[in-house]
Order: sequence, then structure tokens, then C-alpha cells
Amino acid sequence: MIEIVSQTACIHCDKCVKVCPTDVFDSVPDGAPVIARQEDCQTCFLCEAYCPVDALFVAANAYGPEPVIEEEVRAKGLWGKYRRELGWTPAFTTKDRLKETRELGKRIREANERQKLESGHPHHEQPKQN
Ligand code: SF4
Ligand code: SF4
Repeated sequence: MIEIVSQTACIHCDKCVKVCPTDVFDSVPDGAPVIARQEDCQTCFLCEAYCPVDALFVAANAYGPEPVIEEEVRAKGLWGKYRRELGWTPAFTTKDRLKETRELGKRIREANERQKLESGHPHHEQPKQN
């Protein structure tokens, strides 16, 4: 779940507000967005991946809050960890990130289809043969 928006690192671009699929953040004029609906967080890490300055921290626990302080995140080298693991460099533009996200979505859909076919529950009914 989303745990931190760093007040000191945030540059107020509101990208996290825009990419969050469940509208967890409220933007603040001339300020860092606030985590307004933490319970709606899906732990998808998109906000972390899109933040251009690694000012967000999402904890891996999707089942409930896991309060943590900025110093601990820094000491463990966790700022921007998900972005780095994706292979996204800080120089990636929003356009690059959107392209990668679409590609990732396509790969997830294909994997889901394969899994359904392998488990004998295809998503699309096959036409009946006469
Ligand atoms: S992890 Fe996903 S759902 Fe949670 S706040 Fe970030 S973008 Fe929104
Ligand atoms: S994406 Fe990062 S820098 Fe931009 S508003 Fe959100 S936390 Fe701040």
C-alpha cells in the first residue's frame, strides 16, 4: 500500500494523482499531493514508477497499511526501487512510461489468456462445430 509522499522531495507535478487507477491522492495547490484514501490503494506501484523524482513509497503489503518513516526507506535504498527494477531511468519521459505501461498491460492480458486456455477455461467460447 502507498505509505509515503515525501514532502521534501516532491516537485508537485501531480503525475501520481493522474496515474493512480483508484484515485487515492488529492492534489494540493502548490504542494505535495496527500494520500486521501489509502484504503483504496491496489498496491499497483504505478505512482512510484511514474514519479520523476522517486518521492513516493509503496510498501509491498497489499492487505493493509505498514507505516514506515522516510529515514527507514532511505536507509534501505527503497526510494525508486520499483522504477529501477522496471528498468525505467529517471530520464524516461511520461510518453516513454505510457508506452511501457501499455506494453506491460498487453503482456499481462496475453498471460491471462494463456493461463485460461491452459486451465481449460478460455475467455472466448469457441464456435460450435456442426
Ligand atoms: S500503488 Fe497504485 S493504487 Fe496505490 S496509490 Fe499508487 S497508483 Fe494508486
Ligand atoms: S509524482 Fe512524485 S513529484 Fe509528482 S506530485 Fe507525485 S510525489 Fe510529487
